[in-house]
Amino acid sequence: MSPRYPLPAARHPIAERLLADGDAVREAIERFGSPLHLVFPQVMAENAAGLAAVLERHGVPYNIFYAHKVNASHTLLGRAAAAGLGADVTSEAELSRALAAGFPPDRIEATGPKSRAFIERIAALGVTANADDLWELDRLAAAARAGSTVPVLLRLSGFASPVVPPSRFGIDLADADAALEAVRRAPGLDLRGVAFHLDTADPAARVDALTESMAVVAAAHRKGLRPSVIDIGGGFRQRFVEDPEPFQRYARALAAAAPGELAWPGHDLGVPAAHKYGNHRPATEVLERFLTAEIERRPVAEVLRECLLTLWIEPGKALVDHAGITVAEVLYRKRAAGRDLVVLDLSRNQITPADQEVLLDPVLVDGRGDPLEEGVFLAGRLCLESDLVSRRKVFLDAEPASGDVLAFVNTAAYQMDLSASAAGGHPPPRKIAAILDGDRFTFAADTSDDDHGS
Ligand SMILES: *Cc1c(COP(=O)(O)O)cnc(C)c1O
Repeated sequence: MSPRYPLPAARHPIAERLLADGDAVREAIERFGSPLHLVFPQVMAENAAGLAAVLERHGVPYNIFYAHKVNASHTLLGRAAAAGLGADVTSEAELSRALAAGFPPDRIEATGPKSRAFIERIAALGVTANADDLWELDRLAAAARAGSTVPVLLRLSGFASPVVPPSRFGIDLADADAALEAVRRAPGLDLRGVAFHLDTADPAARVDALTESMAVVAAAHRKGLRPSVIDIGGGFRQRFVEDPEPFQRYARALAAAAPGELAWPGHDLGVPAAHKYGNHRPATEVLERFLTAEIERRPVAEVLRECLLTLWIEPGKALVDHAGITVAEVLYRKRAAGRDLVVLDLSRNQITPADQEVLLDPVLVDGRGDPLEEGVFLAGRLCLESDLVSRRKVFLDAEPASGDVLAFVNTAAYQMDLSASAAGGHPPPRKIAAILDGDRFTFAADTSDDDHGS
């Protein structure tokens, strides 16, 4: 027997209960089919309350905007609205959904590159525009209705600090003065503040970006503008595991493995990037570390309070962390290319974000028996060699048989929608809301299914 490298995923108690309740999962599959994405709005509410509690403890005025692009679920979006959050939308379609979910326009901000049509709607509604470029500022100024103003944030990038990763988004700091001038000269624009969003959880990077952004706020005040918001974006992490050790052990084994040993031939997984899946620290801790980090010996929270700034955050993955799982039926097991395969009623693109290998083991619903000694590869149902749900060997904790249900844990962040296609005539899995009511689960179709006409 070769060594086993299990990568056990952390499980929220709600997911844990559902995974142990084979009857409930069967009921969901009988009613809605396999595969299925199950979302847990209760978990999202818990995540939102956790982040809010940190901000309140530090006495920082704040707004939390749910980055809707992380999951297309209407249930999760509606839950965010009910929890009093704002919505961060990146397209006209997301804007329409946010309005339908009950977010008033003044609790919506639009980020990312925007089309002319999107800009017209932003201006007409008075949604806050988080401007990606000077071109957008010009378009917004032209679209503003006479007698009213469009609230804008300047999304900044090009920070001097070497620890802030470069970004393709935002207005380069070298152009910040021109952007401030553009806003100052446009009667239809109201500068609410400045923004950034970093693709890193490094607290030092966020503090450096904040410091450089505050210099732009000061420059704005010197021009007679009155920004009051600093938006630090999202990027708070997900807590994928309870214990990082198995992940670290796996990363070492992968680095030392012969080609084809732990990965399907022809797929080099490399050494797993950036310890993403090895993270066991919750997003609340990332936020806490940011607020207690120091700028010239004073905690960030104190600096923000003294400068009378309102902190905006735009979490996506942190709000939906553990707020969903994906289940699929095992079709059959086979041997091919000298390896053991478990063939699933699922396609790779419906469960992996941007073709990224997910380094967490799925679990067998209601699974009993011994862990599988040998690792297996999980195959999808598309007629493509590349359609392997796992390109790495996974070490399952129970023996799967035809008709069993395999569950992928913690899939609500980007995994469900980012890359999903209907290739091969397999529509993306339906999305279902699972609510724990007492000791029973109730299921309801996520109304986003209506968008697919199914
Ligand atoms: C994607 C995105 C977010 C959300 O990022 P997470 O890493 O999911 O928290 C927030 N703000 C902007 C501008 C984004 O593009």
